[in-house]
This record gives sequence, C-alpha cells and structure tokens, in this order.
Amino acid sequence: MSPTAGRVITCKAAVAWEAGKPLVIEEVEVAPPQATEVRVKIKFTALCHTDLHFWEAKGESPLFPRIFGHEAAGIVESVGEGVTELKEGDHVLPVFTGECKDCAHCKSEESNMCDILRINTERGVMLSDGNARFSKKGTPIYHFLGTSTFSEYTVVHSGCLAKIDPYAPLDKVCVLSCGISTGLGATLNVARPKKGSTVAVFGLGAVGLAAAEGARIAGASRIIGVDLIPSRFEEAKKFGVTEFVNPKDYDKPVQEVIAEMTNGGVDRSIECTGNIGCMISAFECVHDGWGVAVLVGVPHKDDSFKTKPINILNERTLKGTFFGNYKPRTDLPKVVDLYMKKKLEVEKFITHRVPFSEINKAFDCMVKGQSIRCIISLEE
Ligand code: NAD
Ligand code: ZN
Repeated sequence: MSPTAGRVITCKAAVAWEAGKPLVIEEVEVAPPQATEVRVKIKFTALCHTDLHFWEAKGESPLFPRIFGHEAAGIVESVGEGVTELKEGDHVLPVFTGECKDCAHCKSEESNMCDILRINTERGVMLSDGNARFSKKGTPIYHFLGTSTFSEYTVVHSGCLAKIDPYAPLDKVCVLSCGISTGLGATLNVARPKKGSTVAVFGLGAVGLAAAEGARIAGASRIIGVDLIPSRFEEAKKFGVTEFVNPKDYDKPVQEVIAEMTNGGVDRSIECTGNIGCMISAFECVHDGWGVAVLVGVPHKDDSFKTKPINILNERTLKGTFFGNYKPRTDLPKVVDLYMKKKLEVEKFITHRVPFSEINKAFDCMVKGQSIRCIISLEE
C-alpha cells in the first residue's frame, strides 16, 4: 500500500483565486479519497478551451478559488472504500463525464450521459459528501468538472477514471482524455459521414482538428475547415482539411459561402468553436434532405439557438454531443489502443510543452491562438 494512503497529502497545485487572473502555484492539502473515490497522481495535463471558458467566467456563476484542468493522465495513488475496479499503480485518464455502468443511460447503447456522473460545470465539490478534497490552511478550494488536474494529486470519482494500457505514454495519451476523443467521436459516432461525403468543420483547434481527422478516417472526399485564424489552415492540412474558409474574407454569411461551394450544402458539419453564430452557420450549411450538423463547442450560458423551423422541416438534422458520445470507462481504453496500434496519431496535436511552474504560458498560447495542445508536465 502507498505510504501516503489514508493521509492528507500536501502538494503543489495551480490555484485560480479569481476569474481571469493568472493561476498561482500553491502548496495545498489533498484529503484522502472517500468511498467510491480515487486519489490520482497527475503526471501530465493539457489545457482545453473549456478550462479557459470557466476560468474567464464571462457570464458564468463564478466559483473561486478553484483548481481547473480536466485533460490529463496519471497514476492511482490510493483508492477509497468500495473501489474494486482500480488499484494503486493503475494508469488512468480522468474524464469530465463519468460512467456508473448502472443507470438507464449507462445501460443504453445510445447514450453516454450517465445520470449520476454526467458533466456538471457548476459543482465544485465531491458528490459523496458535498465537500471539497482540496484546501489551503483550512480554506476549501473548489473542484472543476470532478477532475481538477492542475494539481500534483487530485481526488476523482472512480466512475470518471478510464483504466488504460500501462505501456501507453502518458505525456501523449493525456490529450485523449478530452479534446481529441471528443472531436474524433463527434464525427465517427455522431455525424457518421459516409465515404466520399463533404464535411465542414467549424473551429480548427484541437477538437475541430480531431473532428477533421475523424472525417478523413471515414473517407470524406472534401473537408472544409472554417476558422478566423489564417495560420490554422497550414496546420489543418495535416489533419485532412482540403479547403479553408475564413468568414472574415466574405461579406455574406459563411453558410451561404459553403452552400455555393458545395452545390447546396455539405453532407455533415461539426461545430467546434462554442460561438453561437458558428453553431447556427454550422446547422444552416448542411444540405437539405440529408444533412446532419453536430454541435460540440460549449456556448455562453445565455446563448440561444435561432433558426427558421423550415430549415429543419427541409430534412436537416441538428445533434449535439459531449465527449463524442464515448462512454469513458468502456470506450476510452479502446481509443488509447487505436493510438498504440498506430491507427491514430496524437503527436501532431501537441504543439507546445511547458513545466508545471509555467502553466500560465499554456493559457497565453491558447488565448493568442498559437497552440493546438500544450502539454503541462507535473514531472518538472
Ligand atoms: P481552441 O480554442 O483550441 O479552438 C477553437 C478554434 O475556434 C480556434 O482556432 C478559433 O480561432 C476558432 N474560432 C473561434 N471563434 C470562431 C468563429 N466565430 N468563427 C470561426 N472560428 C472560430 O478550442 P478547443 O479546445 O479545440 O475547444 C473547442 C470547443 O469545444 C470549445 O468551445 C470547448 O469548450 C468545446 N469542447 C466541448 C466538448 C464536448 O464534450 N462537447 C469537449 C471539449 C471541448
Ligand atoms: Zn450512469
């Protein structure tokens, strides 16, 4: 048994004290895992736009101080009572949405929206007792998405941990715990383009590029990437994007531009920006009769989706997905295996690496649109 099992661990964590202010590396206390919980030593974490969104907290109910982070990989340090599927030393990916394996959703083949462990952006405490496991000198520090991976140690519900191949390199597969799997699954599991189809991807960040990669794997003949940053296109070519549209270059709505390029609309579109205007464009640019649009980006909480109902009557379908419809515990180990079998490349998504002490650089890079994924190493 780990010498720290059952004890409070004092370790470094990057604490967000206030919305939009740089994170501060602090010594924090991490309580032992309670029943159904697992304490994980985080080895590598990455920054996803969802962290940035809730750190900026524009229009969201701000919960601070908070430890962000949800795209990561680590090793089990100790487990709480009743945890039988994981043990000390197991390699795991924490996931922002869980799988209890018992509820109607978990039993349904079609859903990954577990009744108990589905994504909850507002909860900052553990489910079992409503308390935070993090504190600093007695002041509780809130959790984020049940994962809080910007910490050397974190406590996670056992249903939100995917046990993976111990030979998988954690500094690479950490990106599969959110963004890449989300984009890949949005295409392969939800949009499901047929071979030869045309696909539009809105937003060429990690999630969108993974959606494009999914379209390439599915055999799409044209993949149209939409982004405001021209430099994204060169990068996007590596992911199978064949054409690029920058909405800034046109004085008409991008859905009209795409409809003209594709003789009436694309077969599938995947929205990966979180911008409400993009969501509407992504829907309205699919072909009538068969087009399917999938929303992945996380919108501002007060946004509402507006389109003419005739667009739907004309046999267009609008869908949405969390985590690419993958069930985290059941499916994520298989996505890791795809990487291990060299059927999925994750290296090309990793553009930057920083030590934990420089975590704020990862935020800067994302704000400036310079990085696809920046790996933050907790080993340095
Ligand atoms: P990112 O910041 O790396 O990429 C977003 C891209 O969208 C950028 O290249 C940006 O230039 C582009 N963009 C922004 N506004 C645009 C606009 N109006 N028109 C065209 N392009 C625009 O972000 P990411 O990490 O790839 O995440 C993408 C989105 O997916 C975010 O909203 C994130 O919160 C969300 N997300 C959702 C899930 C889910 O399960 N549904 C999971 C992970 C991330
Ligand atoms: Zn469930």
